[in-house]
Amino acid sequence: MSNAVQHIVIVGGGTAGWLSACLLAARLPGKRITLVEAPDIPTIGVGEGTWPTMRETLATIGIPEAEFLEQCDAAFKQGSRFDGWRDGSAEDSYLHPFSAPPAAEMRELAAAWQAGGKQGPFAAAITPQHAICAANLAPRQRAMPDYAGALNYGYHLDAGKFAALLMRHGVGRLGVTRIAAHVIGVSRAANGDIAALMLRDGEALEGDLFLDCSGQAAILIAGECGAGWIDRSDVSFNDRALAVQVPVEPGSPIAAQTIGTAHEAGWLWDIGLPTRRGIGCVYASRFLSDERAEEVLRGYVAAKVPGADPASLTPRKLAFKTGHRDRFWIGNCLAVGLSAGFIEPLEASAIVLIELSLKALAENFPASRASMDIHAGRFNELFRYRWDRVVEFLKLHYVPSQRTESYWLAQRSPETIPQRLAECLVLWREQPPSAWDFPRIDEMFPAASQQYVLHGMGIPVPLHGAVPSPARLAEITVKSRALAAALPTTRDYLDRLAAQSPAARIPA
Ligand SMILES: Cc1cc2nc3c(=O)[nH]c(=O)nc-3n(C[C@H](O)[C@H](O)[C@H](O)COP(=O)(O)OP(=O)(O)OC[C@H]3O[C@@H](n4cnc5c(N)ncnc54)[C@H](O)[C@@H]3O)c2cc1C
Repeated sequence: MSNAVQHIVIVGGGTAGWLSACLLAARLPGKRITLVEAPDIPTIGVGEGTWPTMRETLATIGIPEAEFLEQCDAAFKQGSRFDGWRDGSAEDSYLHPFSAPPAAEMRELAAAWQAGGKQGPFAAAITPQHAICAANLAPRQRAMPDYAGALNYGYHLDAGKFAALLMRHGVGRLGVTRIAAHVIGVSRAANGDIAALMLRDGEALEGDLFLDCSGQAAILIAGECGAGWIDRSDVSFNDRALAVQVPVEPGSPIAAQTIGTAHEAGWLWDIGLPTRRGIGCVYASRFLSDERAEEVLRGYVAAKVPGADPASLTPRKLAFKTGHRDRFWIGNCLAVGLSAGFIEPLEASAIVLIELSLKALAENFPASRASMDIHAGRFNELFRYRWDRVVEFLKLHYVPSQRTESYWLAQRSPETIPQRLAECLVLWREQPPSAWDFPRIDEMFPAASQQYVLHGMGIPVPLHGAVPSPARLAEITVKSRALAAALPTTRDYLDRLAAQSPAARIPA
């Protein structure tokens, strides 16, 4: 290994591996990037909801937005809707949208909503995005520049097509080298670093920095570097999912948000793409059998997807460990993606953690081995902070529930609530969530996100001293109407795009 960090070797060709390859190739010109993936080990093949961060990621990588939308069968995602989480009644539904008012306005808007007798949902009062989602509208017009929106948005996508697009782009346009091979071990440098990957065909692949994107196998960070595992299943119970893809009628509406519907021992995701809906039942195996989970899934499809034949579906079963590494970066090996950890799919926190890891790496890239341990120490500290906040925010969705099934009762028993969240919940009886609770400028779930969940779950948020601002609420209502009149439906947007795609054009 040379002292300069010149050759980055990535193990794994899933979303984490190919995002790593493309982003590092785009952001670190001059570095050599090689990705090795085992042809006989499939990717996890799920992960269909992204955050708005994906727009900057794709723009940085250099993929035009229309190309991405078409090739990944993608649609816009403007947040997550939670149905049935509070008490399971028909009215029990709230939205956690991606758009939020400026932090300084939040208190006044919330106070005005409360003073007005809480007419309609909290999110509907404080952001036009609620109305736009309710009408299945797109967050942007086609004429807007790529990745710009009238409202904040991410994407729903086909995970397999996404990895394939990133591979084509990385190899074809960004100069990434792809090797199809099975990694069976490593050879070591004198200082204990990984010097080379040993491939099953007998070849050795040398590198300076190794990214472990091998998924739950975590062959480098755990298998070779000995990172410990911090189990979070005491807080986050879900450890299984059953996933199906249900075709939809041409021309049918495409939902603008992920729909998460609570069930007796977990929840179901429902993600609308142009040609199909990705639906999955997430559950805790110690509270629900696989057979019952399958019944819950088929029952949901029968009730919610017009024309679908639930009996014809063959669910894919996924098991996942809940937790994360105690260190993500050891020596010259950094874990990105599922190899670093996973806390259930709620709020789609996994792909954004990949993006944040790569941003941290690219903006603090060790020019030489000499600085690497300092970068590793800082990275580990930052990402321990981030994983803790993810665990707490996801738990916040469960704790205020009034549902009475044993799973939901267990979710709110005090010994399962992380101490920092328990403390915040005490404080939030006296003051609203604020930047005092979430002090980093790049918090994943800022105070606004916490407020959306608390209000949505019917928890009173005190607003002492806040001056209601009904005029601003009225402005938001006017803006909602104006946007609703100007924005196309997502279906219309994507169908027109497809009709104009090069593949659909008649050759001249
Ligand atoms: C049920 C479920 C739903 C999810 N939903 C979402 C969501 O909506 N949003 C979100 O952000 N995230 C979601 N996630 C997480 C998301 O799927 C992952 O974060 C993402 O797909 C990244 O996976 P990965 O690339 O780390 O691993 P994988 O996709 O598993 O890829 C691992 C790669 O490593 C390779 N590999 C393994 N061992 C070797 C070896 N010995 N040699 C060479 N190569 C090897 C494999 O061939 C493969 O290419 C979900 C996860 C689950 C389980």
